[in-house]
Amino acid sequence: MSIEQYLNKIPSIKRSTHGTINIDPLQRGGLLTDEAKKALIEWGDGYSICDFCPGALDMIKTPPIHEFIHSALPEFLGTDKARVTNGARESKFAIMHSMAKKGDWIVLDKNAHYTSYVAAERVAMNIKVVPRLESPDYSIDPQGYGTAIEEVISESGTTPALALITYPDGNYGNLPDVQKIAAICHEYNVPLILNGAYSVGRMPVKADKLGADFIVGSGHKSMASSGPIGVLGVSDEYTDRLFIKSSNNKAKEIEFLGCSARGATIMTMIASFPKVVERTKHWDEEVEKARWFSSQMESLGMIQMGDKPHNHDLMFFETPVLYEKSKTEKKGRYFLYKALKARKIHGIKPGLTKFFKLSTFGLPMEELQVVVDAFTEIINA
Ligand SMILES: *Cc1c(COP(=O)(O)O)cnc(C)c1O
Repeated sequence: MSIEQYLNKIPSIKRSTHGTINIDPLQRGGLLTDEAKKALIEWGDGYSICDFCPGALDMIKTPPIHEFIHSALPEFLGTDKARVTNGARESKFAIMHSMAKKGDWIVLDKNAHYTSYVAAERVAMNIKVVPRLESPDYSIDPQGYGTAIEEVISESGTTPALALITYPDGNYGNLPDVQKIAAICHEYNVPLILNGAYSVGRMPVKADKLGADFIVGSGHKSMASSGPIGVLGVSDEYTDRLFIKSSNNKAKEIEFLGCSARGATIMTMIASFPKVVERTKHWDEEVEKARWFSSQMESLGMIQMGDKPHNHDLMFFETPVLYEKSKTEKKGRYFLYKALKARKIHGIKPGLTKFFKLSTFGLPMEELQVVVDAFTEIINA
């Protein structure tokens, strides 16, 4: 396609999923608040936040970024210090890059996100995986961290530089016992990263209470922000290593390449912050809705995998009833996607019928009932 042809296409770019009930786990926690939508327009110009910058992103007092990064955010994360990054993966990479060197080991859980792997690979770390239990639990036994650390020590003669736990993981929405994992890691003096991409901004989560040394979160995943944007919390013990400043420019921190989220993204995060703080206080209602939804799906013959009763809005279902149906449907394995689309429900990947994940986060009961009714109709059709 030539530039000319492409230019003709641009005016017609629209998003086709407006007005649907969105159950995509990736998107539920990143839906913007009205305040964030306004901020997006107000601060959309490139480098708009830099009008009164005294030298680095975290020092900007107008708009109030300094107080956010140095006061509100660390309190929210339960850490001594915090920074804003361009995503959870960038937070993880910054931590790994500052804490480890090529050939060092990291221990991570079998449910870890691909971004934990690529971040470690970018640092050229070796990766030791803590196994998970078989189906249907897919859970992580904290003792596995002790075993994995022992294995690294006996195989390589060195203690792992870091450990990481995914809380919850992005497939099953399982919440592992972080306190136990942290205690085990600390017996070996291995600092622990808590990957809270699916928890920070959705549920109450404090790194200090859980015993984690680092915590990372994702603004566009769980903090009602227009991404890419992430957060990072760290205990004072490791700030010397993480916050090293450039010898050429005293205000700029190397691991964050001087300034990270230097635009509208951070303003959407700040604009949504009051509502994000508030919503984490109502997490018990979200868990209740998720459990109700799970029981409705199970009464239709679908089976929820992972923690049961479930403790998170992200749920994975095995759906043999839909798979059987797909065999006789004209549209084959795309029938489910089409049937949900016809009912204005979006978020289950096209082509999936054997299993899928979804999220109930922030959806009112009436809309969850619409989703349950849709599955009931589709299964009984
Ligand atoms: C989505 C997700 C990430 C990636 O978050 P980004 O902010 O896009 O880097 C990392 N870990 C988990 C568990 C996730 O679900």
